[in-house]
Amino acid sequence: MLDEEIEEEKKDIIRRYRRLLRHAKPLLKDGDAKIIKKAFHTSMEAHKNMRRKSGEPYIFHPLAVAQICVEEIGLGTTSIVCALMHDVVEDTETSLADVEYLFGKKVAKIIDGLTKISGVFDQGTSQQAENFRKMLLTLSDDVRVILIKLADRLHNMRTLESMPHDKQLKIASETSYIYAPLAHRLGLYTIKSEMEDLCLKYTDSEVYEEISNKINATKSVRNKFIRNFIRPLKDELDKLGMNYQIKGRPKSIHSILSKMRKQNVPFEEVFDLFAIRIIIDAPLHKEKALCWQVYSIVTDYYQPNPDRLRDWISIPKANGYESLHSTVMSDVGQWVEVQIRTMRMDEIAEKGYAAHWKYKENKGGRDDSGLEMWISKVRDILEQSDTSAIEFVSDFRSNLYNEEVFVFTPKGDLMTLPHGATALDFAFDIHSEVGAHCIGAKVNQKLVPLNYELKNGDQVEILTSKKQKPTEDWLKIVVSSRAKSKIKDSLKEEKKIFSNEGKEIIRRKLKQMKLPYDQEILEQMTAFFNVKTPTDLYYMVGKGKIDHTELKQFREKKKEVKKKATLKVIENAEHPKEVSPAENKDLLVIGENTDYLDYKLARCCNPIPGDDVFGFVTVSDGIKIHRTNCPNGAELLSNYGYRVIKAKWTARHDIAFLAGLNIIGTDRIGIISDVSNVISSELKVNMRSMSITTDNGIFEGEIQLYVDDTQHLDQLIRKLEEIQGVVNVSRCN
Ligand code: MN
Repeated sequence: MLDEEIEEEKKDIIRRYRRLLRHAKPLLKDGDAKIIKKAFHTSMEAHKNMRRKSGEPYIFHPLAVAQICVEEIGLGTTSIVCALMHDVVEDTETSLADVEYLFGKKVAKIIDGLTKISGVFDQGTSQQAENFRKMLLTLSDDVRVILIKLADRLHNMRTLESMPHDKQLKIASETSYIYAPLAHRLGLYTIKSEMEDLCLKYTDSEVYEEISNKINATKSVRNKFIRNFIRPLKDELDKLGMNYQIKGRPKSIHSILSKMRKQNVPFEEVFDLFAIRIIIDAPLHKEKALCWQVYSIVTDYYQPNPDRLRDWISIPKANGYESLHSTVMSDVGQWVEVQIRTMRMDEIAEKGYAAHWKYKENKGGRDDSGLEMWISKVRDILEQSDTSAIEFVSDFRSNLYNEEVFVFTPKGDLMTLPHGATALDFAFDIHSEVGAHCIGAKVNQKLVPLNYELKNGDQVEILTSKKQKPTEDWLKIVVSSRAKSKIKDSLKEEKKIFSNEGKEIIRRKLKQMKLPYDQEILEQMTAFFNVKTPTDLYYMVGKGKIDHTELKQFREKKKEVKKKATLKVIENAEHPKEVSPAENKDLLVIGENTDYLDYKLARCCNPIPGDDVFGFVTVSDGIKIHRTNCPNGAELLSNYGYRVIKAKWTARHDIAFLAGLNIIGTDRIGIISDVSNVISSELKVNMRSMSITTDNGIFEGEIQLYVDDTQHLDQLIRKLEEIQGVVNVSRCN
């Protein structure tokens, strides 16, 4: 490089630095400029021999990131210092301790956060997910880490040109997968839109070019249209002596493309290509009244579409967005979206989180903003959930873009939930215990099931029952990541309790059998009972799906293995061939041969007529009937083929089998008589007992009845579940 070029470059660096200071100036307090200067010099010195892919001096990048933090997010001195230093620890000799020595603990902590998350997408999927989770953890520490990271990513996207194509694709897809949704959730709409447009530019350049050319080509027509549209409005606003600004600009390329795809129309037919924004200067206490006054002026001139009125002033979005949106018909027969807001609201809409905090102090009683609640929920989920990182990220991500639904508690408190949320989501949002025992809800005084989808303005009262507990199916009912993680936790917790019980039982049994409790035996047992891991084995035993008789069979097998060598010959003599299933003489017909054949129904699988079954000759307990899909079945059938007897249920059902049903539902007059009617009259089933309790709108019952077979039982369950108000019917164990 020539000396003049180096000189020119130095001047350029100083120019950029001064520009940063100029923009930061209104935010600076005494001594701030000095700290920023120190950060700038430290960073420049550390990066002095480095260049970016484009050939520029590296310091351009931290300067640009700091500039974005100030100008586009509205962050202050600490963030500027961190932005300037953000790549120093990772890419240069400077250590975190150096940073702490020079700039203090707070800065060091943020830099540490930024360094840790820089590799979010550099490892395998699960590592990525884990790192992403770490990144979100820092959100609850100091949200500035995420904001600076977004600024860093935005600058990298803006300068993606000089990267090789495969890197471009990778960086762009990460950006659209996680950074743009995150920007959206933090209320940084401008940054989110720019990110999305830049992603499109690299992942689908043809479409991007086409739309951007068309936007440019229609510019003059559009500007003329906007001028005509706003002329009468301006006159009225001037008459009122209002201080205002009117902007009309096209929507982002990405959002136009989504509209084209969603509505399946060409560019020319997308009706709201642009929005008109009226920004007024209003004191805080008059904001709402003045915005509606402007709305009144607009609709005096243009007919509004009543379906497209959105009042985010009375109820701001969860990310803090406030604005009044309406779509009106212009003179030339074209729909136009009009956004009405104050300067304060506009700054929040543009700069999101940071601007929100700037105004927070003056806002009086409304400081429990949606955004704060959201961040505290994120913290909650992160701290309590032990779901796998990948699950977590996909649940979390699906929540980032969700729009909200607003509902009320019985006391009239407003709750915000993601769009599509159900009564069950609401229950979990109130408290995890309320969620776990939720059996239904009253929405606007009417009883609804768990999966009722909430609508704006619903007033929801949750009904709970102590007997209720989460099931796998619940995961399909809820949409919020909070509810999902609580349900997963609870399912895991339940499994853990049964596993611990099972572990104790096994330990005791092995002692009785005089067998050691060690890895080898556990492995033999998991193989014998055909389960994957010792934990699964504990769980099956704890739940009673493997009972003590089966555990005894395991010991018998152990003995047999020992004797096998000597017994083999004799066994072969006793069992010249395997019992062929076709040989009817060996067929045990259950329900007929009771008089002279001693058989019992195995407790591991509780067979009832209709189940596919086989008989198994035990050593001391006669014949046991198992279901062919019994968890122990495969093991028994493959290892003890000679002890298996083919069995089927008699076709004549002269015996009825006792089965128990649990039934829960939301109470209404006559429901109990409906239930007993279905059982006794409609299906002619004999009931042995029925006990039902009702409490605060819920009824729960246990019914003992005699059924012929599985078909009969299933039919009965189906019929009972059809009864209005019945939520769940299940077989008891
Ligand atoms: Mn960087």
